[in-house]
Amino acid sequence: MYDVIVIGGGLVGSYVAGKLAGMGYGVVVLEQHKQLREQVCCTGIVSQECISNFAIDNSLVLRQLNSARLFSPSGKLIRLWRKEPQACVIDRAAFDRAMASRAQAQGADYRLDSLATDLEVRDSGVIVKATCQGERVGLEARAVVIATGFGSKFADGLGLGKVGDFAVGGQVEVEVTAGVGEVEVYFGREIAPGFFAWLVPTSPRKALVGLLARRNPGLYLKRLMLSLLNQGKVVSAEVEPIYRGVPLKPLPRTCSDRLVVIGNAAGQVKPTTGGGIYFELLSAEIAANTLHRCLATDNLSARGLADYERGWRQKLGRELGIDYYARKFYERLSDQRIDRIFDIIKSNGIDEALLKAKDLSFDWHGKAVLRLVGHRALSKALEVMKIPFRLGNRDFDL
Ligand SMILES: Cc1cc2nc3c(=O)[nH]c(=O)nc-3n(C[C@H](O)[C@H](O)[C@H](O)COP(=O)(O)OP(=O)(O)OC[C@H]3O[C@@H](n4cnc5c(N)ncnc54)[C@H](O)[C@@H]3O)c2cc1C
Repeated sequence: MYDVIVIGGGLVGSYVAGKLAGMGYGVVVLEQHKQLREQVCCTGIVSQECISNFAIDNSLVLRQLNSARLFSPSGKLIRLWRKEPQACVIDRAAFDRAMASRAQAQGADYRLDSLATDLEVRDSGVIVKATCQGERVGLEARAVVIATGFGSKFADGLGLGKVGDFAVGGQVEVEVTAGVGEVEVYFGREIAPGFFAWLVPTSPRKALVGLLARRNPGLYLKRLMLSLLNQGKVVSAEVEPIYRGVPLKPLPRTCSDRLVVIGNAAGQVKPTTGGGIYFELLSAEIAANTLHRCLATDNLSARGLADYERGWRQKLGRELGIDYYARKFYERLSDQRIDRIFDIIKSNGIDEALLKAKDLSFDWHGKAVLRLVGHRALSKALEVMKIPFRLGNRDFDL
């Protein structure tokens, strides 16, 4: 019997597997693919805070970011710039492979081409049924970590519920023309209704272009590529996109007897941007420490594991609540209103003030959101537009 079976050898599953194996537990990771990550539908942007907290190796960094150009629906530009790099683009597939190698070096056993299909929680342990290299097997462990990414069927089947809201992300890797060197973010209903699109240079002539949408991401991505081609920013619009779901709200519950759900499967993602790497790793750290305590005391009941649920909600819950409210607010804005907000931000120097604010952080958007809507000129304009932004205490609950 293993101590822990981790279902899903993506970034977050490998992180927990490595931590637990390093503490001396017997860990097996089941990954459905025949090889560890070669391509991930992810832009790979992480903050400096994430880089230093999780000791992400420099060799995985494709480029550092200290500026971004934000475009309103009619093309008004706000350029955000800070002297020091605020974030990095990392090679996401290489990062996942490095995390898996680290876990293997700590002693975690990886079974590739192994699709977990079912799991049964008993008093004495958990049985995971899987097809490992074409063969049906049943593996037993004291606890299971579900790290299957977006759209896990296990969570709902085990009574933990579904992520309450989601979007779809689509992305392509493109060749860009000389001179395209800064991150660009595009807002507007014709571009990515209710969300935004991006162009993120990864090397001198390569970039990732993508967007989030509730529906038809392929259609909007095609339009965006044609527009970038017409603007002379990309070399060709003939590219094959990849798509993935993005949770905007977490699961109602992320643990039960002998079971924890982590990462995208748990929906620990910033609803403002869909960025998940940092918050999911922070939560995975809490999961690993909780599992360690529960394995050591042999108390793997839902009550024992609830420290994980409490821990990550305490750390991220308020932030995710404000961000989700801001997301829903933004989704109600027409293109004209987004343009007007750009004007107000520029003419009142709100962008400059935000950039100077010491507590403005790449990851923790809640403070920036509250500062932005708390600014007199902007809140007055929102009142006039009859779309006031008012957070009640209950809006923080997800
Ligand atoms: C277009 C796009 C851009 C993004 N850009 C960013 C960004 O710039 N920064 C950021 O922080 N976040 C970004 N994200 C979010 C980020 O990619 C996710 O938060 C992160 O990948 C989640 O990691 P994970 O390990 O939880 O899940 P995943 O990376 O999805 O890994 C899950 C693993 O589980 C395996 N698996 C699934 N089911 C089974 C099963 N039944 N049996 C065995 N194996 C199974 C899968 O094969 C996979 O390897 C982006 C997302 C999208 C869609």
